[in-house]
Amino acid sequence: MNSADSADIAAAFGRRGYELTDELKKADAVVVNTCTVRQRAEDKAISQIGRLRVWKEKHPEGKLFIVGCAAQKLGGKAIKNRFPFVDEVTGARAIEYFEDALCAQLGPAPETGYPDSALFRSPLSAYVTIMRGCSLKCSYCIVPAVRGPAVFLPPKTILEDARAKLAGGAKEIVLLGQTVNAYKHDKTTFSELLRKVLALPGLARLRFMSPHPLYFDDAFTDLLVKSPKLARYLHLPVQSGSDRILKAMRRGYTRAQYLGLIAKLRAAVPDLAVSTDFIVGYPGETEEDFADTLSMLKEGRFSMAFCFKYSPRTDNPAMVSHLDEPAMEARLEKLLAAVKKNSRVILQERIGKIEEVLFETENYGRTSGNFGCRVKAGGSPGSSAQALIEGTDKNTLNGKVL
Ligand code: SAH
Ligand code: SF4
Repeated sequence: MNSADSADIAAAFGRRGYELTDELKKADAVVVNTCTVRQRAEDKAISQIGRLRVWKEKHPEGKLFIVGCAAQKLGGKAIKNRFPFVDEVTGARAIEYFEDALCAQLGPAPETGYPDSALFRSPLSAYVTIMRGCSLKCSYCIVPAVRGPAVFLPPKTILEDARAKLAGGAKEIVLLGQTVNAYKHDKTTFSELLRKVLALPGLARLRFMSPHPLYFDDAFTDLLVKSPKLARYLHLPVQSGSDRILKAMRRGYTRAQYLGLIAKLRAAVPDLAVSTDFIVGYPGETEEDFADTLSMLKEGRFSMAFCFKYSPRTDNPAMVSHLDEPAMEARLEKLLAAVKKNSRVILQERIGKIEEVLFETENYGRTSGNFGCRVKAGGSPGSSAQALIEGTDKNTLNGKVL
């Protein structure tokens, strides 16, 4: 979500003739797009802002913008009090109005614009936001508080954005939202929106992130079966393998319901790859609950999993983990090792299969199931080709273009 917002922010600068630089000393403006999903992210954002004091002292005419979720949580006043050298603060809820903040600092964009700016060239895989915020209330999560309730963007806006990104060179579109498959705008459902995006010329592949188990329907399964451009891949966060913990987390599904859902989707599309997120050390998570998470990893046959140590996002003492840091770390390490092992098994299952690879370079691309795939020859950036999978490296497939 932040990457997508950052790209929009960069484009707003691009309209004023700015280009991106990785070198702080060259920068005329700095934007820090902050995250607060875990405390560590917020702490990193704060120390990053602190380090920018030196830059601002050396470039007093430079502009410093703090945006995003940590900015929303901490508030503009608190940030400016602590870091008086900050010029503008735009919280996550107001991110659509970042243009106003820019106008206040730099003036409006010239009408003639800078159409040749590299900032308008889309990456091969481009994000398109279809909803903002979230209306669920998972007990551990700060997103609804900082990004607000779910708001679905009109299909017209989404299609315009996707069309512009395809025209700018994108081949893959990734639709974004916190419960992306809950999409509903007037009569347009998620599956209908997917169908509309799938029909856009120039599109090679369509992905979305993150769906929620509660919102899949038969129309989606039908579409997945019928549409080769719709990625055979779901990033479907499960968070825990224990029913007790899932209930405490208010996720709205049981382990069996989650597994039933992916079994049903895999029955319709056997090569569907599923990756997930896990949280370890949720308050009250016992060794047994954690063992359920480990077994869930195997049973779900997840190709990959992001694993996080639980981070309390409220002051409520009941929401602090009972585990100390070493115990938390031990669970994380154990899970990460299991994920690594499991991912290799899933990767090896692809040997002998024919996969469609969308190339990012001449020798590397990703399959519809989102596995990285290397080839010796035959690829070209932005093109797709069928490849026979002949082997695997650590984390990637090795294929031969057919
Ligand atoms: N909307 C998505 C997840 C968005 S947050 C969904 O519901 O699936 C991305 C991930 O961060 C979550 O899947 C979760 O695994 C992790 N996360 C969120 N809050 C967290 C917290 N307080 N501590 C640790 N991890 C957290
Ligand atoms: Fe947070 Fe995702 Fe739950 Fe929404 S669905 S509250 S974003 S974890």
